[in-house]
Amino acid sequence: MPQQFDVLIVGAGPAGCTAGVLLAKAGLSVCLVEKDVFPRFKIGESLLPAGNSVLRRIGVWDKMDEAGFIRKYGGEFVSSDGSSRLNNIFSDGLIEGMDYTYQVERSRFDQLMLDNARDHGCTIKQPCKVVDSTLADGYWQASLVSSGEADRVTSEVRARWLLDGSGRTAFYGKREQLAKDTLPYPKRLAVYSHFEGVKRLPSKERGGNIIITRLKDGWFWSIPLDKDKTSVGVVSRKRQSEWKNREFSLENFFFSQVERSSYLGELLADATPVDAFRATGDYSYSFTDYAFPQAVLLGDAAGFIDPVFSSGVYLAMRSAEMASDAIILAHQQQRRLSARECANYTRALKKNVRVMRDLIEIYYDNGKFPVFMAPTSKNKLFRAVNSIVAGNTSPGFAVWWRFKLFLLICKINKHYRLAPDQTLA
Ligand SMILES: Cc1cc2nc3c(=O)[nH]c(=O)nc-3n(C[C@H](O)[C@H](O)[C@H](O)COP(=O)(O)OP(=O)(O)OC[C@H]3O[C@@H](n4cnc5c(N)ncnc54)[C@H](O)[C@@H]3O)c2cc1C
Repeated sequence: MPQQFDVLIVGAGPAGCTAGVLLAKAGLSVCLVEKDVFPRFKIGESLLPAGNSVLRRIGVWDKMDEAGFIRKYGGEFVSSDGSSRLNNIFSDGLIEGMDYTYQVERSRFDQLMLDNARDHGCTIKQPCKVVDSTLADGYWQASLVSSGEADRVTSEVRARWLLDGSGRTAFYGKREQLAKDTLPYPKRLAVYSHFEGVKRLPSKERGGNIIITRLKDGWFWSIPLDKDKTSVGVVSRKRQSEWKNREFSLENFFFSQVERSSYLGELLADATPVDAFRATGDYSYSFTDYAFPQAVLLGDAAGFIDPVFSSGVYLAMRSAEMASDAIILAHQQQRRLSARECANYTRALKKNVRVMRDLIEIYYDNGKFPVFMAPTSKNKLFRAVNSIVAGNTSPGFAVWWRFKLFLLICKINKHYRLAPDQTLA
């Protein structure tokens, strides 16, 4: 007989664990299935202050200092030669109470989130992969395969709701061959590893900041993870010819990109990799619909955007929050999600994502980027932009109109230079 739950969640990343806790707190029985053994390496290590409220709601916030995560008070945006620099301090934003968040080594953060889900009553199946799901008579019947060392054991689970938190694997979207939106972004590639010996910014407040260094057609991140370890990665255009070349190696590619920036050369002068180089490619996508009468896509399983503003984990947790609220209401009323609720969820999540996409498009556009790097104190414009960088993707009017004005100035700058050009290598 299959085990029966109210909710089956595929994947125990930030999206799956957040949804699991919220649904369990509302009294629903939750089965959280994760295919990997934790702790495991995962990219996506810099959080945004806008996610703090979700971490508080699920009971993780108070454990962050104790877990030894480094506090992040802002982000520093630097040009490739280091000649121009924008220090984005979260506490300067227009919205109060967002002074800092954390840089998290995902192996430890994801374990913390999973333990928290278990403590809140979720049934965890791990390592265990959801391989199939069919809806019949109002219930999902899912096949799970646990990947033990000796043999593969298949079991069945029945649930009223299916939440897909499987990340970029996109379990449900691929299985159901859901339609995708067309996103106007070129194919990009990220190559990254963990290092020791990467130089840090001076002072406690700045030492935990993310540093984003802009190249002509890409950028580097540097994220302090603990007192010794720093995550460093490059995002660049994916050129098929280069990638397919037999001589191509991730490490050579990484260091060839470092050479383009004197600033990075200095930052990484004494750096030694302490982990393998890894790569993620072709990564921006979005399904057209994110919600269905008994299934909802969360986080990366719904869509993924360029990580330059570190929005992935925040959007994953935010989507889980929105989905859980809708499901709790429908479950209490013993009904499925209505067409309107499904459309509302998709629209609301896409609206949040759109705000980050606006920033991302500015960052990559050499005609608009100079405005981002030349903050003005007039009309509190950059305090509003600062609040958006902190992840306020549903801004109130005060932030909203200033952000719209900022977008307009960026557009104008493409044709009439208002901000000084940046030298980019
Ligand atoms: C290069 C790069 C840099 C990034 N940097 C940042 C950053 O600095 N800050 C930030 O916030 N975000 C960043 N991100 C984005 C971030 O990694 C993701 O947005 C975030 O992890 C999404 O969370 P999630 O819970 O939706 O999915 P995930 O974290 O991917 O979790 C999905 C889980 O589902 C499991 N799973 C998959 N399929 C199945 C299955 N069939 N059965 C059971 N389990 C399954 C997986 O093993 C995984 O544990 C970055 C991404 C990339 C590619």
